[in-house]
Parts: sequence; C-alpha cells; structure tokens
Amino acid sequence: MISFYPGPSRVYDEVPGYVKKAHAKGILSMNHRSEDFMALYRETVALLKKKQKVPKTYTVLFASSATECWEIIAQSLVEKQSAHFYSGAFGEKWFQYTQKLKPAAQPVSFHLEFNLPVQTIASADVICLTQNETSNGTQVDTALIAQVKKKNPHALVAVDATSSMAGIVLPFTSADVWFASVQKCFGLPAGLAILILSPKTIERVAVQKELAHYNSLAFMKQMADQWQTNCTPNVLGIYLLRCVLKQQPSIEETSEQTKERYQAWADFFGASKKLRLLVANEAVRSHTVVTVTGDPAYLAKVKKHARKEGFLLGEGYGALKSNTFRIANFPALQEREIKKLKKFLAQYL
Ligand SMILES: *Cc1c(COP(=O)(O)O)cnc(C)c1O
Repeated sequence: MISFYPGPSRVYDEVPGYVKKAHAKGILSMNHRSEDFMALYRETVALLKKKQKVPKTYTVLFASSATECWEIIAQSLVEKQSAHFYSGAFGEKWFQYTQKLKPAAQPVSFHLEFNLPVQTIASADVICLTQNETSNGTQVDTALIAQVKKKNPHALVAVDATSSMAGIVLPFTSADVWFASVQKCFGLPAGLAILILSPKTIERVAVQKELAHYNSLAFMKQMADQWQTNCTPNVLGIYLLRCVLKQQPSIEETSEQTKERYQAWADFFGASKKLRLLVANEAVRSHTVVTVTGDPAYLAKVKKHARKEGFLLGEGYGALKSNTFRIANFPALQEREIKKLKKFLAQYL
C-alpha cells in the first residue's frame, strides 16, 4: 500500500534501516541526561538549521506533537489575548484549544478562497496563523507573513507549519514562533515536534517566566541551554530526524520539486471533468496537500477502488469528509509512485 495520506504519511524508505542502526548503536535506550544525548540534540539542531535554512539566532526545542505546541504557546506566550487567523479546521482547532486556556482568544476566520486578511490587532499579544491548512489544501502566501508581523510589531507571530516545514522554503525571520510535527513533510513516524523560537520570543519567555507546567517554555529553554529536555524525549525520533536531515538535499531544491509536482497535479486535475481541485484560487492553493472535490458518491467509489489497487488516499477532513479527498505532495513520495497513482486516477477524470 502506498500512502498518499497527508499525515501520518509515507516515511522515507531508509527509516527501517535507521531504526536498526539506532538499536545497534544503543540509541533506543540512550540516557537523555548523557553526553551522547546532548551531542545528538546539538548536532540535530545544527543540521536542521543548515538544511532548512533556520536562522542561527533561533532556538530549537523538541515537543511531542503540533497540538502540544499549540498548548505551549497558549500557556507560556499568550499574556492576555491571542488572535487566530484561519480558513480551515486545524487553525480553528488551534483557536479552540487556546480558548480553553486563555478565554480572551479571538478568532479571525476567512474564506478558503481568500488571502489571509492582514490587519492590525492591537489587543493581541500573540498572532496565530496556519501557513498550510492541511484540512482544505490552502496555504498562506509566505510574503503575507512578513506583512502580518509588520502590522503587529507589538505581538509575537506564531506559525503552524506542520504540513509544509521541510516541504517548502519558509521565511523564518518573518515570524517569531514556528512549529511542525515530523509525520508530514519530514517523512518520519509520528511522536516528535520541532518548535523554533526567534530571539524576540526568547526575550518574552524570560520576562513572562511562566513556570507552572512541565512543558513551560521558560523551563524548556533552560534545559535546552544545556542540550537537554524537560522530560524523557523521543530520542529515537530525534535520531531519525538527524538521519533524514543528513540524507536530504537543501530545502531550496526540495521546494522546487514540491512546486513542480504540485503544478503537475494542478494540470492533471485541471483537465478533468469529474474531479477538480477544491480551491479555485491558485494564489492560496497548498503546494504540499492537494485537495480534490467532486460528487461524494463518485469520490467514495474512487477511494474504494484506490485502496483495492494499493493506494491510500487521504480522507476529506472534518466538514469536507465526504466531498473531498486529499493527496499528500510530500518529499518522501517517489516519482514512480506519483506516476502510478496518476495512471490509476486517469480512468476517473
Ligand atoms: C497534522 C497537523 C496538526 C496536528 O499535528 P499533531 O502532531 O497530530 O499534533 C496541526 N496542525 C496542522 C496544520 C496539521 O497538519
């Protein structure tokens, strides 16, 4: 079965070999307070910065999921109010999770065909946006993120890049907080998230000194200063991340490939009568998650037949469950697999 699910998704073919190597090297029972772990943490961060073009001045922390990052931001960075821009289910969930911890959270929803409505929100101390909305296959133009920051110099800008980090070039200096879990574009098994913080965020952490939780940022940062973590981390996940980063080309190269493959999918469905892309506005279409719409009964037939032929398509998400399916356009997918899926889908166009 070839998984085109946009998370958890196809892992790199090398992963089983890396796991074996990890076992042989004693990584699976490595003590997280050891010198070896500290070196692993340090090297992984250096590689991430090099391969993904993360500024040297930014701090990298590990968490267990993107959902955990939502909570960390709510508890440790939001003083009074966060504002949440979203056009889909993940951005909305982030807003809802935050609202439980910080009730003043403010939603700013926008239509999936539209650009993020850049505006000043004077009352917000953290502005949250989802760069790639995995539920509907839209993305926020990376140039708009800098505009959000420019209009809101008083606030920290936090970006959920769970389904785009490691797939496209991200403008890290345009925002203060970036995070992603690794089961999407990184091509790794779930259970690890990367949280990237700007120097301005670190200053805010030092002032706020929120220390009421095991995963309070002030505590995580204090531990990270010694290349350690707040709890026993997913050491295998960190090791696998290091291995995968090592084998990868630069993010510019990967990003080019992602864009080309996206364009090929857009052309493919552009020529179809029965299956079309959910999002008509090319300017807001995701390059990493291709969302296809059509008659629900017809889509159900395609999905069922696809499964029989060995292709796992992504179900529609939330309200879009029955009238869409999704195709991951993540780097771990191979050209020949995409070709095979296209050959199968061609009979349904
Ligand atoms: C998958 C996803 C999440 C949730 O990730 P977890 O690691 O399961 O918490 C959050 N945001 C976006 C945009 C996602 O695609």
